[in-house]
Amino acid sequence: MSKVRIYSLAKDLGVDNNKMLEILDGLGVSYKSVSSTIEEDTVDLIREILAAEAAEAAPASAQAPAAPMAPAQAETQAAPTPVSTATATAEREPAAAPEVPHRAPVVTIMGHVDHGKTSLLDYIRKTKVAAKEAGGITQHVGAFEAQTSKGRIVFIDTPGHEAFTTIRARGANVADIAIIVIAADDSLMPQTREAIAHAQAAKVPMIVAINKVDLPQADADRVKTDLTQLNLVPEEYGGDLVVVPVSAKTGEGVEDLLEYISLTAELEDLRADPKGPFSGVIIESRVDRQAGVLATVMVQEGTLHVGDFLVVGENYGKIKAMTDSGGGRIKEAGPSTPVQILGFSEAPSSGEQVASAKNEHAAREVIAQRASNRRDVENARIQRKKTLEEMMGP
Ligand code: GDP
Ligand code: MG
Repeated sequence: MSKVRIYSLAKDLGVDNNKMLEILDGLGVSYKSVSSTIEEDTVDLIREILAAEAAEAAPASAQAPAAPMAPAQAETQAAPTPVSTATATAEREPAAAPEVPHRAPVVTIMGHVDHGKTSLLDYIRKTKVAAKEAGGITQHVGAFEAQTSKGRIVFIDTPGHEAFTTIRARGANVADIAIIVIAADDSLMPQTREAIAHAQAAKVPMIVAINKVDLPQADADRVKTDLTQLNLVPEEYGGDLVVVPVSAKTGEGVEDLLEYISLTAELEDLRADPKGPFSGVIIESRVDRQAGVLATVMVQEGTLHVGDFLVVGENYGKIKAMTDSGGGRIKEAGPSTPVQILGFSEAPSSGEQVASAKNEHAAREVIAQRASNRRDVENARIQRKKTLEEMMGP
Protein backbone atom coordinates (compact mmCIF):
# COMPACT_ATOMS: atom_id res chain seq x y z
CA MET A 1 0.00 0.00 0.00
CA SER A 2 1.58 3.25 -1.02
CA LYS A 3 -1.21 5.69 -1.72
CA VAL A 4 -4.73 5.87 -0.35
CA ARG A 5 -7.80 7.87 -1.27
CA ILE A 6 -8.90 10.43 1.28
CA TYR A 7 -12.43 9.15 1.60
CA SER A 8 -11.42 5.53 2.06
CA LEU A 9 -8.95 6.55 4.74
CA ALA A 10 -11.69 8.58 6.45
CA LYS A 11 -13.89 5.51 6.36
CA ASP A 12 -11.13 3.26 7.74
CA LEU A 13 -10.38 5.65 10.56
CA GLY A 14 -14.03 6.29 11.35
CA VAL A 15 -14.01 10.06 10.84
CA ASP A 16 -15.99 12.10 8.35
CA ASN A 17 -14.49 13.53 5.18
CA ASN A 18 -14.61 17.12 6.37
CA LYS A 19 -12.60 16.22 9.44
CA MET A 20 -10.04 14.54 7.20
CA LEU A 21 -9.75 17.60 4.95
CA GLU A 22 -9.40 19.79 8.03
CA ILE A 23 -6.41 17.76 9.16
CA LEU A 24 -4.89 17.84 5.67
CA ASP A 25 -5.35 21.62 5.58
CA GLY A 26 -3.63 21.82 8.93
CA LEU A 27 -0.73 19.78 7.58
CA GLY A 28 -0.57 21.92 4.47
CA VAL A 29 -1.18 18.90 2.25
CA SER A 30 -2.86 19.85 -1.01
CA TYR A 31 -5.68 17.81 -2.51
CA LYS A 32 -8.31 18.27 -5.19
CA SER A 33 -11.20 16.39 -3.67
CA VAL A 34 -11.91 13.57 -1.28
CA SER A 35 -11.07 11.10 -4.00
CA SER A 36 -7.55 12.47 -4.27
CA THR A 37 -4.84 10.13 -3.00
CA ILE A 38 -2.37 10.88 -0.24
CA GLU A 39 1.04 9.44 0.61
CA GLU A 40 1.69 6.82 3.22
CA ASP A 41 3.76 9.23 5.33
CA THR A 42 0.78 11.56 5.49
CA VAL A 43 -1.44 8.67 6.50
CA ASP A 44 0.88 7.93 9.43
CA LEU A 45 0.77 11.59 10.48
CA ILE A 46 -3.01 11.62 10.34
CA ARG A 47 -3.19 8.52 12.52
CA GLU A 48 -0.93 10.21 15.06
CA ILE A 49 -3.00 13.38 15.07
CA LEU A 50 -6.22 11.47 15.56
CA ALA A 51 -4.70 9.38 18.33
CA ALA A 52 -3.47 12.52 20.08
CA GLU A 53 -6.89 14.15 19.73
CA ALA A 54 -8.61 11.09 21.11
CA ALA A 55 -6.27 11.02 24.11
CA GLU A 56 -6.93 14.70 24.74
CA ALA A 57 -10.69 14.40 24.41
CA ALA A 58 -10.93 11.41 26.72
CA PRO A 59 -10.73 13.12 30.14
CA ALA A 60 -13.04 16.07 29.38
CA SER A 61 -16.43 15.29 27.93
CA ALA A 62 -16.87 18.82 26.54
CA GLN A 63 -15.97 18.88 22.87
CA ALA A 64 -14.09 21.81 21.41
CA PRO A 65 -16.05 23.56 18.67
CA ALA A 66 -15.21 22.37 15.18
CA ALA A 67 -12.44 24.28 13.44
CA PRO A 68 -13.50 26.49 10.52
CA MET A 69 -14.18 24.72 7.26
CA ALA A 70 -11.98 24.89 4.21
CA PRO A 71 -12.75 28.12 2.26
CA ALA A 72 -14.72 26.32 -0.46
CA GLN A 73 -17.20 25.04 2.09
CA ALA A 74 -17.29 28.15 4.21
CA GLU A 75 -18.49 29.98 1.13
CA THR A 76 -21.42 27.70 0.42
CA GLN A 77 -22.42 27.40 4.04
CA ALA A 78 -25.57 29.35 4.64
CA ALA A 79 -25.85 31.51 7.70
CA PRO A 80 -27.50 29.44 10.38
CA THR A 81 -31.17 30.19 10.83
CA PRO A 82 -31.66 31.84 14.17
CA VAL A 83 -33.50 29.58 16.54
CA SER A 84 -36.27 31.25 18.46
CA THR A 85 -35.62 31.58 22.17
CA ALA A 86 -38.80 29.67 22.84
CA THR A 87 -37.47 26.59 21.06
CA ALA A 88 -34.05 26.92 22.62
CA THR A 89 -35.41 27.11 26.15
CA ALA A 90 -37.91 24.36 25.58
CA GLU A 91 -35.09 22.09 24.49
CA ARG A 92 -32.71 23.15 27.26
CA GLU A 93 -29.77 23.13 24.89
CA PRO A 94 -26.28 23.19 26.39
CA ALA A 95 -24.38 26.49 26.36
CA ALA A 96 -23.13 26.05 22.79
CA ALA A 97 -25.48 27.12 19.98
CA PRO A 98 -27.38 24.10 18.64
CA GLU A 99 -26.01 22.93 15.31
CA VAL A 100 -28.29 23.14 12.32
CA PRO A 101 -28.71 19.51 11.22
CA HIS A 102 -27.60 18.11 7.90
CA ARG A 103 -30.15 17.57 5.17
CA ALA A 104 -30.30 15.21 2.21
CA PRO A 105 -28.95 16.47 -1.15
CA VAL A 106 -31.35 17.36 -3.95
CA VAL A 107 -30.01 16.22 -7.30
CA THR A 108 -31.00 17.14 -10.84
CA ILE A 109 -30.08 15.08 -13.90
CA MET A 110 -29.40 17.00 -17.10
CA GLY A 111 -27.92 16.22 -20.48
CA HIS A 112 -28.52 15.80 -24.20
CA VAL A 113 -31.65 14.08 -25.47
CA ASP A 114 -31.36 10.29 -25.64
CA HIS A 115 -28.20 10.18 -23.55
CA GLY A 116 -30.12 8.26 -20.91
CA LYS A 117 -31.46 10.68 -18.26
CA THR A 118 -34.82 8.92 -17.96
CA SER A 119 -33.22 5.47 -18.02
CA LEU A 120 -30.80 6.40 -15.26
CA LEU A 121 -33.58 7.83 -13.08
CA ASP A 122 -35.67 4.72 -13.76
CA TYR A 123 -32.83 2.46 -12.76
CA ILE A 124 -32.27 4.35 -9.51
CA ARG A 125 -35.98 4.47 -8.77
CA LYS A 126 -36.36 0.76 -9.44
CA THR A 127 -33.43 -0.27 -7.26
CA LYS A 128 -33.40 2.36 -4.53
CA VAL A 129 -37.00 3.23 -3.82
CA ALA A 130 -38.83 0.75 -1.67
CA ALA A 131 -42.20 -0.06 -3.19
CA LYS A 132 -44.86 1.16 -0.78
CA GLU A 133 -48.10 -0.47 -1.77
CA ALA A 134 -48.28 -3.71 -3.71
CA GLY A 135 -49.62 -2.93 -7.13
CA GLY A 136 -49.84 0.72 -6.17
CA ILE A 137 -49.65 3.28 -8.89
CA THR A 138 -46.51 5.35 -8.59
CA GLN A 139 -47.70 8.78 -9.51
CA HIS A 140 -45.41 11.20 -11.19
CA VAL A 141 -44.82 13.97 -8.70
CA GLY A 142 -41.63 15.47 -10.14
CA ALA A 143 -39.25 14.13 -7.52
CA PHE A 144 -38.42 10.96 -5.64
CA GLU A 145 -36.36 9.91 -2.66
CA ALA A 146 -33.76 7.18 -3.00
CA GLN A 147 -32.46 5.29 0.02
CA THR A 148 -28.78 4.49 -0.31
CA SER A 149 -26.23 3.02 2.07
CA LYS A 150 -24.97 6.58 2.54
CA GLY A 151 -28.39 8.03 3.32
CA ARG A 152 -31.25 9.65 1.49
CA ILE A 153 -30.80 11.31 -1.91
CA VAL A 154 -33.63 13.29 -3.49
CA PHE A 155 -33.85 13.30 -7.28
CA ILE A 156 -35.71 15.87 -9.31
CA ASP A 157 -37.54 13.70 -11.76
CA THR A 158 -38.59 16.13 -14.45
CA PRO A 159 -36.94 15.28 -17.74
CA GLY A 160 -34.63 17.66 -19.49
CA HIS A 161 -33.36 20.84 -17.98
CA GLU A 162 -36.59 22.78 -18.42
CA ALA A 163 -37.46 22.14 -14.81
CA PHE A 164 -34.10 23.39 -13.68
CA THR A 165 -34.32 26.54 -15.79
CA THR A 166 -37.95 27.42 -15.07
CA ILE A 167 -37.33 27.02 -11.38
CA ARG A 168 -34.13 29.07 -11.61
CA ALA A 169 -35.83 31.70 -13.75
CA ARG A 170 -38.04 32.45 -10.75
CA GLY A 171 -35.03 32.96 -8.59
CA ALA A 172 -35.25 29.67 -6.74
CA ASN A 173 -32.57 27.05 -6.52
CA VAL A 174 -33.73 23.57 -5.67
CA ALA A 175 -30.85 21.45 -6.85
CA ASP A 176 -27.69 21.06 -4.78
CA ILE A 177 -25.87 18.85 -7.25
CA ALA A 178 -26.21 18.41 -11.02
CA ILE A 179 -25.51 15.12 -12.74
CA ILE A 180 -24.54 15.72 -16.35
CA VAL A 181 -25.32 12.58 -18.33
CA ILE A 182 -23.17 12.07 -21.43
CA ALA A 183 -23.58 9.01 -23.65
CA ALA A 184 -20.27 7.24 -24.17
CA ASP A 185 -21.05 6.64 -27.85
CA ASP A 186 -21.99 10.24 -28.60
CA SER A 187 -19.87 12.45 -26.31
CA LEU A 188 -20.60 16.15 -25.91
CA MET A 189 -23.65 17.46 -27.77
CA PRO A 190 -25.33 20.89 -27.82
CA GLN A 191 -27.66 20.18 -24.89
CA THR A 192 -24.74 18.77 -22.91
CA ARG A 193 -22.98 22.13 -23.22
CA GLU A 194 -26.21 23.90 -22.27
CA ALA A 195 -26.67 21.70 -19.23
CA ILE A 196 -23.09 22.38 -18.14
CA ALA A 197 -23.62 26.11 -18.63
CA HIS A 198 -26.80 26.00 -16.52
CA ALA A 199 -25.08 24.17 -13.69
CA GLN A 200 -22.17 26.60 -13.81
CA ALA A 201 -24.47 29.64 -13.83
CA ALA A 202 -26.31 28.25 -10.81
CA LYS A 203 -22.97 27.47 -9.11
CA VAL A 204 -24.19 23.95 -8.53
CA PRO A 205 -21.44 21.33 -8.30
CA MET A 206 -21.41 18.90 -11.22
CA ILE A 207 -20.75 15.20 -11.46
CA VAL A 208 -20.43 13.73 -14.94
CA ALA A 209 -22.01 10.33 -15.54
CA ILE A 210 -20.66 8.79 -18.73
CA ASN A 211 -23.59 6.56 -19.63
CA LYS A 212 -24.01 3.58 -21.96
CA VAL A 213 -20.57 2.16 -21.18
CA ASP A 214 -22.06 -1.26 -21.93
CA LEU A 215 -22.13 -0.46 -25.66
CA PRO A 216 -19.28 -1.89 -27.75
CA GLN A 217 -18.74 1.49 -29.37
CA ALA A 218 -18.54 3.27 -26.00
CA ASP A 219 -15.55 5.57 -25.78
CA ALA A 220 -15.31 7.05 -22.29
CA ASP A 221 -11.82 8.43 -22.95
CA ARG A 222 -13.11 10.53 -25.80
CA VAL A 223 -15.76 12.04 -23.50
CA LYS A 224 -13.10 12.89 -20.93
CA THR A 225 -10.90 14.49 -23.56
CA ASP A 226 -13.83 16.46 -24.94
CA LEU A 227 -14.65 17.71 -21.45
CA THR A 228 -11.10 18.96 -21.10
CA GLN A 229 -11.75 21.22 -24.10
CA LEU A 230 -14.38 22.97 -21.98
CA ASN A 231 -11.87 23.43 -19.18
CA LEU A 232 -13.55 20.68 -17.23
CA VAL A 233 -10.68 18.42 -16.31
CA PRO A 234 -11.48 14.94 -14.99
CA GLU A 235 -9.73 13.88 -11.80
CA GLU A 236 -7.70 11.22 -13.51
CA TYR A 237 -6.27 13.91 -15.78
CA GLY A 238 -5.31 15.95 -12.75
CA GLY A 239 -8.42 18.11 -12.53
CA ASP A 240 -11.22 18.14 -10.03
CA LEU A 241 -14.18 16.99 -12.12
CA VAL A 242 -15.70 13.77 -10.86
CA VAL A 243 -16.48 11.50 -13.81
CA VAL A 244 -18.27 8.20 -13.24
CA PRO A 245 -18.77 5.61 -16.00
CA VAL A 246 -22.23 4.07 -15.72
CA SER A 247 -24.76 2.01 -17.59
CA ALA A 248 -28.42 2.67 -16.96
CA LYS A 249 -29.03 -0.61 -18.75
CA THR A 250 -26.86 -2.97 -16.68
CA GLY A 251 -26.61 -0.82 -13.57
CA GLU A 252 -22.83 -0.82 -13.73
CA GLY A 253 -21.34 2.15 -11.89
CA VAL A 254 -24.66 3.40 -10.50
CA GLU A 255 -23.62 2.53 -6.94
CA ASP A 256 -20.41 4.55 -7.46
CA LEU A 257 -22.42 7.45 -8.79
CA LEU A 258 -24.62 7.43 -5.67
CA GLU A 259 -21.52 7.29 -3.51
CA TYR A 260 -20.01 10.31 -5.28
CA ILE A 261 -23.27 12.20 -4.83
CA SER A 262 -23.11 11.54 -1.08
CA LEU A 263 -19.45 12.57 -0.94
CA THR A 264 -20.18 15.79 -2.80
CA ALA A 265 -23.12 16.51 -0.51
CA GLU A 266 -20.95 15.97 2.52
CA LEU A 267 -18.41 18.47 1.23
CA GLU A 268 -21.14 20.99 0.48
CA ASP A 269 -22.17 20.63 4.13
CA LEU A 270 -25.87 20.96 3.36
CA ARG A 271 -27.91 21.93 6.38
CA ALA A 272 -31.44 23.05 7.16
CA ASP A 273 -33.30 23.60 10.37
CA PRO A 274 -36.45 21.47 10.64
CA LYS A 275 -37.58 23.71 13.52
CA GLY A 276 -36.98 26.98 11.69
CA PRO A 277 -39.51 28.95 9.65
CA PHE A 278 -40.84 27.01 6.68
CA SER A 279 -39.82 27.76 3.12
CA GLY A 280 -40.21 25.68 0.01
CA VAL A 281 -40.47 25.70 -3.77
CA ILE A 282 -43.11 24.36 -6.13
CA ILE A 283 -41.66 21.58 -8.28
CA GLU A 284 -44.78 21.02 -10.34
CA SER A 285 -48.54 21.00 -10.05
CA ARG A 286 -51.52 19.58 -11.84
CA VAL A 287 -55.27 19.53 -11.56
CA ASP A 288 -56.82 16.17 -10.87
CA ARG A 289 -60.43 15.98 -11.97
CA GLN A 290 -61.47 14.33 -8.72
CA ALA A 291 -58.99 15.45 -6.10
CA GLY A 292 -58.45 19.01 -7.33
CA VAL A 293 -55.10 20.83 -7.36
CA LEU A 294 -52.12 18.62 -6.54
CA ALA A 295 -48.88 20.49 -6.04
CA THR A 296 -45.44 19.04 -5.38
CA VAL A 297 -43.51 21.17 -2.93
CA MET A 298 -39.87 20.73 -2.02
CA VAL A 299 -39.44 21.54 1.64
CA GLN A 300 -36.25 23.57 1.95
CA GLU A 301 -36.38 24.84 5.53
CA GLY A 302 -38.66 24.08 8.44
CA THR A 303 -41.37 21.46 8.59
CA LEU A 304 -44.77 21.23 6.93
CA HIS A 305 -47.77 19.79 8.75
CA VAL A 306 -51.20 18.82 7.58
CA GLY A 307 -53.43 21.79 8.44
CA ASP A 308 -50.73 24.43 7.79
CA PHE A 309 -51.63 27.50 5.75
CA LEU A 310 -49.41 28.08 2.72
CA VAL A 311 -49.00 31.15 0.58
CA VAL A 312 -47.84 31.00 -3.05
CA GLY A 313 -47.82 34.20 -5.04
CA GLU A 314 -51.26 35.69 -4.51
CA ASN A 315 -52.91 32.43 -3.56
CA TYR A 316 -53.11 30.53 -0.36
CA GLY A 317 -54.27 27.13 0.67
CA LYS A 318 -54.63 24.96 3.72
CA ILE A 319 -52.96 21.56 3.56
CA LYS A 320 -55.80 19.04 3.55
CA ALA A 321 -53.62 16.04 2.80
CA MET A 322 -49.99 15.33 2.12
CA THR A 323 -48.29 12.37 0.45
CA ASP A 324 -44.62 11.57 0.08
CA SER A 325 -43.09 10.87 -3.33
CA GLY A 326 -43.89 7.18 -2.95
CA GLY A 327 -47.58 7.94 -2.56
CA GLY A 328 -47.73 7.25 1.17
CA ARG A 329 -49.82 9.54 3.37
CA ILE A 330 -47.75 11.63 5.75
CA LYS A 331 -48.60 14.17 8.46
CA GLU A 332 -45.40 16.18 8.39
CA ALA A 333 -42.36 16.70 6.16
CA GLY A 334 -38.96 18.18 6.99
CA PRO A 335 -36.13 19.67 4.87
CA SER A 336 -35.24 18.10 1.50
CA THR A 337 -38.53 16.25 1.30
CA PRO A 338 -40.68 16.46 -1.81
CA VAL A 339 -44.34 16.25 -0.88
CA GLN A 340 -47.53 16.32 -2.85
CA ILE A 341 -50.04 18.66 -1.31
CA LEU A 342 -53.77 18.82 -1.64
CA GLY A 343 -55.29 22.12 -0.60
CA PHE A 344 -54.54 24.86 -3.10
CA SER A 345 -57.47 26.27 -5.01
CA GLU A 346 -55.37 27.27 -8.01
CA ALA A 347 -52.44 25.40 -9.54
CA PRO A 348 -49.17 27.16 -8.67
CA SER A 349 -46.33 27.24 -11.22
CA SER A 350 -42.97 25.44 -11.02
CA GLY A 351 -40.39 27.51 -9.25
CA GLU A 352 -42.80 29.59 -7.20
CA GLN A 353 -41.75 30.16 -3.62
CA VAL A 354 -43.94 28.76 -0.88
CA ALA A 355 -44.19 30.29 2.56
CA SER A 356 -46.37 29.39 5.49
CA ALA A 357 -48.71 31.60 7.46
CA LYS A 358 -49.82 31.28 11.07
CA ASN A 359 -53.51 31.15 10.18
CA GLU A 360 -55.97 32.01 7.46
CA HIS A 361 -56.11 35.67 8.48
CA ALA A 362 -52.32 36.01 8.25
CA ALA A 363 -52.33 34.25 4.87
CA ARG A 364 -54.92 36.70 3.54
CA GLU A 365 -52.91 39.63 4.82
CA VAL A 366 -49.75 38.48 3.04
CA ILE A 367 -51.72 38.09 -0.19
CA ALA A 368 -53.39 41.50 0.17
CA GLN A 369 -49.97 43.10 0.64
CA ARG A 370 -48.56 41.31 -2.41
CA ALA A 371 -51.55 42.31 -4.54
CA SER A 372 -51.20 45.90 -3.44
CA ASN A 373 -47.47 45.93 -4.26
CA ARG A 374 -48.19 44.48 -7.66
CA ARG A 375 -50.87 47.12 -8.39
CA ASP A 376 -48.46 49.88 -7.38
CA VAL A 377 -45.89 48.59 -9.83
CA GLU A 378 -48.51 48.27 -12.58
CA ASN A 379 -49.88 51.78 -11.96
CA ALA A 380 -46.41 53.25 -12.03
CA ARG A 381 -45.84 51.57 -15.38
CA ILE A 382 -49.12 52.90 -16.81
CA GLN A 383 -48.29 56.37 -15.53
CA ARG A 384 -44.85 56.29 -17.17
CA LYS A 385 -46.40 55.22 -20.46
CA LYS A 386 -48.98 58.05 -20.30
CA THR A 387 -46.33 60.65 -19.57
CA LEU A 388 -44.28 59.38 -22.48
CA GLU A 389 -47.27 59.56 -24.82
CA GLU A 390 -48.03 63.14 -23.70
CA MET A 391 -44.46 64.14 -24.36
CA MET A 392 -44.59 62.63 -27.83
CA GLY A 393 -47.72 64.64 -28.66
CA PRO A 394 -50.74 63.44 -30.67
P1 GDP B 1 -33.14 10.72 -22.31
O1 GDP B 1 -33.69 11.36 -23.52
O2 GDP B 1 -31.84 11.35 -21.92
O3 GDP B 1 -34.10 10.64 -21.18
O4 GDP B 1 -32.72 9.23 -22.72
P2 GDP B 1 -33.50 7.87 -22.46
O5 GDP B 1 -33.35 7.42 -21.06
O6 GDP B 1 -34.88 7.98 -22.99
O7 GDP B 1 -32.62 6.85 -23.33
C1 GDP B 1 -32.51 6.98 -24.73
C2 GDP B 1 -32.22 5.62 -25.32
O8 GDP B 1 -30.97 5.14 -24.87
C3 GDP B 1 -33.26 4.58 -24.95
O9 GDP B 1 -33.49 3.76 -26.06
C4 GDP B 1 -32.58 3.79 -23.84
O10 GDP B 1 -33.02 2.47 -23.77
C5 GDP B 1 -31.13 3.87 -24.26
N1 GDP B 1 -30.22 3.79 -23.12
C6 GDP B 1 -30.24 4.58 -22.02
N2 GDP B 1 -29.24 4.26 -21.18
C7 GDP B 1 -28.58 3.24 -21.76
C8 GDP B 1 -27.43 2.46 -21.39
O11 GDP B 1 -26.80 2.64 -20.34
N3 GDP B 1 -27.02 1.49 -22.27
C9 GDP B 1 -27.66 1.27 -23.45
N4 GDP B 1 -27.18 0.32 -24.23
N5 GDP B 1 -28.73 1.98 -23.81
C10 GDP B 1 -29.19 2.94 -23.00
MG1 MG C 1 -36.02 11.36 -21.10
